[in-house]
Amino acid sequence: MTDSKTEFAHVKIFDTTLRDGEQSPGMSMNLKEKIEMAKQLERMGVDIIESGFAISSPGDFLSVKTVAESLKNCTVASLARATAPDIDRAWEAVKGAADPRIHLFIATSDLHMEHKLGMKPDQVLEQAIAMTKYAKKYCANIEFSAEDSTRSDMDFLAKVCEGVVAAGATTVNLPDTVGYSTPEERYKFFMSIQEKAPSLTKITLSCHDHNDLGLGVANSLAAIRAGVRQVECTVNGIGERAGNAALEEIVMALKVRRGEYRADTNIITTEIMRSSNLLSRITGVKVQPNKAVVGENAFAHEAGIHQHGVLKNALTYEIMTPESVGLKENNLVLGKHSGKHAFRDRVVSLGYEISDAELTVAFEKFKVLADKKKRVYDKDIEAIIAKESVQVPKTFMLESFVINSGNTITATAAIKLNRGGKSIEKVARGDGPIGAAYAAIDKIVGKQLELVDYGIESVTEGEDAQGDATVVVKGESGAEYSGRGLSTDVIEASINAYINAVNKMYYAEAEDVISGER
Ligand code: MN
Repeated sequence: MTDSKTEFAHVKIFDTTLRDGEQSPGMSMNLKEKIEMAKQLERMGVDIIESGFAISSPGDFLSVKTVAESLKNCTVASLARATAPDIDRAWEAVKGAADPRIHLFIATSDLHMEHKLGMKPDQVLEQAIAMTKYAKKYCANIEFSAEDSTRSDMDFLAKVCEGVVAAGATTVNLPDTVGYSTPEERYKFFMSIQEKAPSLTKITLSCHDHNDLGLGVANSLAAIRAGVRQVECTVNGIGERAGNAALEEIVMALKVRRGEYRADTNIITTEIMRSSNLLSRITGVKVQPNKAVVGENAFAHEAGIHQHGVLKNALTYEIMTPESVGLKENNLVLGKHSGKHAFRDRVVSLGYEISDAELTVAFEKFKVLADKKKRVYDKDIEAIIAKESVQVPKTFMLESFVINSGNTITATAAIKLNRGGKSIEKVARGDGPIGAAYAAIDKIVGKQLELVDYGIESVTEGEDAQGDATVVVKGESGAEYSGRGLSTDVIEASINAYINAVNKMYYAEAEDVISGER
């Protein structure tokens, strides 16, 4: 082994949860949620956050701009097609960032050039170079992506790479847009393109791998082995179709197999679980239990022989510790006699920064919970805080509910909600207690809402555990809104989840008015 091989490379983590991730079905986030997620990504040590596609909608523009202005250290990028209006808009959105980046792209495969762009290769080459130069006038930090690069002609792709680097691109990303590659191909691809376009070795080379064949992470690791120093990925692997390479899997593979890949990242791995949980809370989409690194069973040892081994020495069956990804024991922390100071200390030690006003609200919720539940765990507190911190304005609030239900009668619900200080009560019937309650809320709201998804699970174990209800509601415009509700009473949790989704719908509509979408 030569000396240069003993050095560890640095791999930048480019997170596109808010762009590639957010544009996938059921993953849309409102402005407040995007800012909360972006702050958590920054806390986790992500190098670059792609916070949206500024020209795609006024709402997207506003969220890219607000995220750019809210972060202190991260590079913030906006995606842009390789056209002047797209680049103008991207710059307008990111220019307030500590380190702004314009990320422009154009397709380079024959299939995309002919059928999508209707352009000849020479025109694409010319456009890529001209637009890189155009973006460079605004911003020093320019990323160029060759869309569908893995199905592009290598000699043509090399010409494009040489051209955009000469024009000022500081990062060149060669994505496997359709998730077709294999790890062996991905390695050869990056080795070959660096040989054909040597200027790529002077800038940051990047990969972006989709997971259509379940190979996204493996392909990104192969790319790193071939000299790639920026990886584009998402929390929980969300993204178009089967998703993107999962951030947590790449980071932990590099960490656990450090000797093998000889590369480090800036990620604070103990923040991984919180990032994963926050995203699930915001979108209402849970990860599968057997998901690597962040799944509920990722560190559960079920087989007796495994449990016996782990108890004697964790290394027998554990290649990484649960603590290393931020998974904590279910600690008994507080009870009904705990004061506000103790509560604040616990919240701070869990890593949350909340305002005094938010703390007061959260403490009230904690007291109510502690009255109902003997033992309040870290997970309960995290559930309260995480819910509060992404809370939208409460257009509607639950005042009271009475439900009459049984297996020999039709369920009826009387729901009283408060809107702007005024109580509104309606009664409705339904197939069951929850259906009846939702029908009554629909009457109060006065809109035709459709329940798309509903789920409930417990935050911790035990009979007095809190129920954590998740709903997805479709509004009259066809847009979907997720909502969550917490309570030791599952009916109340379900009602709160529905009200939360309705409030998000009102918030999104108000946001569209501000950004000029309607
Ligand atoms: Mn993508």
